[in-house]
Amino acid sequence: MSVIDEVLKANEAYAQHHELRHVSPRPKRRLAVLTCMDTRLEKHTLGLATGDAHILRNAGGIVTDDVIRSLVVSHHLLGTNEVMIINHTDCGLMDRTEEELQRLVLTRSGSDAVAPARFFGFSNVEENVRQQMQKLRSHPWIPKEMPERGFVYDVKTGRLKEVLL
Ligand SMILES: [Zn+2]
Repeated sequence: MSVIDEVLKANEAYAQHHELRHVSPRPKRRLAVLTCMDTRLEKHTLGLATGDAHILRNAGGIVTDDVIRSLVVSHHLLGTNEVMIINHTDCGLMDRTEEELQRLVLTRSGSDAVAPARFFGFSNVEENVRQQMQKLRSHPWIPKEMPERGFVYDVKTGRLKEVLL
């Protein structure tokens, strides 16, 4: 059985009770979190329960056009009013240049592609968090008064460390 088949079986069992049926689509604690897709950081790492927050994830925890789109929807349509940006130590995008990442994927896949145009590799994780904060802060559709804070999550200790602009 493939993992997807296992998931389908598990979903069938879940749907018998579907206890999240009554969860509001509006995050209860009015928080939006942008972080990496890394397996070592999950909502319970942050003390968040289902329904508490919007958790947006991509490789690196990068403020891309689509993250901005999602955060604008999160704030203006669904009522979130604080944003956390979390990058982490030992990230797969760390210490890799854009050229290296492009070359690696080109070599492995054997073909070139138009998108993604950038992988957003980085070397200094704190500096990377600052860049993401600045990108978000400078966007006209994100209110200036909305608290936006950046952090590095240490995968060894499980602790968040705040990054100041
Ligand atoms: Zn990562």
